[in-house]
Amino acid sequence: MPSVNDIRSTFLNYFERNGHTVVPSSPLVPRNDPTLMFTNSGMVQFKNCFTGVEKRDYTRATTAQKCVRAGGKHNDLDNVGYTARHHTFFEMLGNFSFGDYFKEDAIPFAWELITKDFDIPKDKLYTTVYHTDDEAFEIWKKVGVPEDRIIRIATSDNFWQMGDTGPCGPCTEIFYDHGDHIWGGPPGSPEEDGDRFIEIWNVVFMQNERFADGTMTELEMQSIDTGMGLERISALLQGSHDNFDTDMMKSLIEASAHATSVDPYGDKNVHHRVIADHLRSTSFLIADGVMPSNEGRGYVLRRIMRRAMRHAHLLGAKDPIMHTLVPELVRQMGEAYPELRTGQAMIEETLKLEETRFIQTLDRGLKLLEDELTDLPEGEKLPGEAAFKLYDTYGFPLDLTQDALREQGREVDTDGFDAAMAEQKAKARAAWAGSGEAADATVWYDIAEDKGTTEFLGYDTEKAEGEV
Ligand code: ATP
Ligand code: MG
Ligand code: MG
Ligand code: MG
Repeated sequence: MPSVNDIRSTFLNYFERNGHTVVPSSPLVPRNDPTLMFTNSGMVQFKNCFTGVEKRDYTRATTAQKCVRAGGKHNDLDNVGYTARHHTFFEMLGNFSFGDYFKEDAIPFAWELITKDFDIPKDKLYTTVYHTDDEAFEIWKKVGVPEDRIIRIATSDNFWQMGDTGPCGPCTEIFYDHGDHIWGGPPGSPEEDGDRFIEIWNVVFMQNERFADGTMTELEMQSIDTGMGLERISALLQGSHDNFDTDMMKSLIEASAHATSVDPYGDKNVHHRVIADHLRSTSFLIADGVMPSNEGRGYVLRRIMRRAMRHAHLLGAKDPIMHTLVPELVRQMGEAYPELRTGQAMIEETLKLEETRFIQTLDRGLKLLEDELTDLPEGEKLPGEAAFKLYDTYGFPLDLTQDALREQGREVDTDGFDAAMAEQKAKARAAWAGSGEAADATVWYDIAEDKGTTEFLGYDTEKAEGEV
């Protein structure tokens, strides 16, 4: 059975053989791109190649790109632990054409790799096309996909965008049917969010550019941008529908089980999954220079770290454990991503420090939460002031509280939370104004507030884009 590391190589070798230059992953913090919080797909480093602003000495490229989807347009933080196919950190395998080949080659490239090199049975595969894209429909027919397995989709699922602006275009997606023992329906059906039909590959026909005012133009060049989740294709090739069954994720889950002495595959499995996932995103973010803080990217990192730590706590961990899992991560991924080796000591220290600090308030915060819930009538939301107190006094990011409540089918009164936050800011402002340095202090506070609101916007997924 091929390992995750083998499958990454097979993909890159296939496209290298077909004239593509193997380009290293770019960092998770996009360079010179204030519109994007984290690199969320393979095309990010090539954005300007599609628009023609940047020229490289190749027109075909292939990558395994580190991606984080925990904020902004593509946010999967709340999916982790609940679906079999989403991570906050994952690797996106991609092939790219910058004004070189287009649809008529991109589709056969993808089809040949998955049905020949990966030897995936054709009768398990479905494809989707953008509803008006007759061309793509015909090319799929030509490579041999029966018409009733080419589904036309009219929603944004088949029109790919990295964010609110930038190169974009209609796309075609390849799905694998994992069988009727798993809940879910084919794309376009009401049950499509299940894990039975899993999207493995998205091939984007880059032909448009979207601008901040909402308008869209045709790009001069027609290009290709594709993305296949390494964890999803690996699960499939290793005989499972579940990303967390891959050799790589399993090794991390088992490390978590070892550190907590809790059965990896019993009823606590979900906590191990979250820990394994968040270990990867936090470690890779730290390796790329993000540090936990109270705003912007650093706050997203802090939120992920603290969520993981709550799950460790639910496994009974009394001492920090996240840093003890780093060596296993480095063993698994250090060869493909040497920055993990270089950054190992810093990653461990950062995790340990954050966890040591958070453990001091975590217990008391969870106790407060428990008390609040005991008195709360069924179906009622947790009052905003309580969520705010958890945030302000115990360092619980709002989404951590929401994550904790979700397990019990409850929600937070977020309007009440916002109101409590606004009230505290108003009080702080009043205190400044009364200090006798009114003019300057108020100005300073306004600036600080403008800059600092990302901690507030961090979980408002739409606004977070561009707010870093
Ligand atoms: P889904 O509909 O399943 O959420 P997507 O359409 O949002 O996926 P794309 O933006 O098309 O995903 O990304 C390209 C590929 O990257 C997907 O086909 C999938 O294989 C993989 N992928 C996307 N999001 C994740 C994730 N959160 N974790 C793991 N793999 C992912
Ligand atoms: Mg998605
Ligand atoms: Mg999709
Ligand atoms: Mg997709």
